[in-house]
Amino acid sequence: MKEFDYRRAHDVTGAVALLAADPDARFLAGGTNLVDLMKTGVERPGLLIDVTELPLEQVESTADGGLRIGATVTNSDLAAHPEVRRRYPALTQAILAGASGQLRNMATVGGNLLQRTRCGYFSDVSGPCNKRVPGSGCPAVTGEHHDHAVLGASGHCVAVHPSDMGVALTAFDAQVAYETLDGPGEMPLTGLYLPVGDTPHRETALPPGALITHITLPGAPVAARSRYRKVRERASYAFAIGSVAAALDVEDGRVREVRLALGAVASRPWRARAAEAVLTGAPATGETFAAAADAELAAARPLPDNEYKVTLMRNLVVSLLTELAEGDAR
Ligand SMILES: Cc1cc2nc3c(=O)[nH]c(=O)nc-3n(C[C@H](O)[C@H](O)[C@H](O)COP(=O)(O)OP(=O)(O)OC[C@H]3O[C@@H](n4cnc5c(N)ncnc54)[C@H](O)[C@@H]3O)c2cc1C
Ligand code: SF4
Repeated sequence: MKEFDYRRAHDVTGAVALLAADPDARFLAGGTNLVDLMKTGVERPGLLIDVTELPLEQVESTADGGLRIGATVTNSDLAAHPEVRRRYPALTQAILAGASGQLRNMATVGGNLLQRTRCGYFSDVSGPCNKRVPGSGCPAVTGEHHDHAVLGASGHCVAVHPSDMGVALTAFDAQVAYETLDGPGEMPLTGLYLPVGDTPHRETALPPGALITHITLPGAPVAARSRYRKVRERASYAFAIGSVAAALDVEDGRVREVRLALGAVASRPWRARAAEAVLTGAPATGETFAAAADAELAAARPLPDNEYKVTLMRNLVVSLLTELAEGDAR
């Protein structure tokens, strides 16, 4: 592992200034992803700027019934927060479906959203990978890709984003607030991750050197009736091969409001807008749920070894919406 310096930041402007002063610097939060990547040589920073002492560890209620979540809130604290459990239960379930208790105690909200892909070729510095070394090729397309993307990928990269938390946050219209040397900024989480195209090494739309400071969830009464379902290759301590966050409000047998996002299918948490359009106002039946899933997955372009994901995701969407509709019958 390359030698590096370590500084602890105590205020947001100081953290941003420290990073701007050194092109070789990285923010360090829980370190559960960054330090692993440093050990394998994928990341080789000369300076780590520890952001865990910044005053960004609060979860606060907002006037519209939503929540403002500090970027250094740990995954464990966020999952356990009573207002998250009450207002956005799918978010608690998504976080608890990820990693292990020890990791969740260290991992933070900002770090979770900016964690890198788990594609095996990405972490193997001895071989090519367009995301790690632009223009070097994507061995996953013809190689090991059974858990890779079926939506929104390109021939240049078919990796998926591994976050569970991000899937629930995407379903609930989260906004990402950040700080730069030029001042604060904000963007929807759906706009945070750039399309893959032919530049998979460019992952986010954050300005250079930006520090994520908060995530804001707008008030959404429908989110109180939400769930997260994750499929993985072993029962715990594994990344998703497919996941769904859904919230559903049914009135007089028809879908009044719905939120739907898919995980482990694309380079970003995937908001299922086409499915939501089919569902809204339609009868809350298995036929509608299947038609909605089909509408979303019509854009799927699976590779030879991950075609199973299209069926898996269809079944996941239908079963989770059916459960929510049955629990919501009124
Ligand atoms: C064995 C294992 C299993 C796991 N399983 C799952 C799983 O099932 N589901 C899941 O979702 N995750 C899983 N994870 C990933 C884990 O959730 C992430 O490693 C963690 O959330 C990253 O958060 P962190 O605070 O440790 O980030 P760090 O490792 O500190 O940082 C990650 C990246 O984010 C940047 N960064 C951190 N904070 C900020 C900020 N505020 N502003 C700007 N940049 C920032 C860092 O510079 C770095 O590039 C697993 C990890 C391991 C090791
Ligand atoms: S899928 Fe993406 S991350 Fe994986 S080898 Fe290809 S370019 Fe690299």
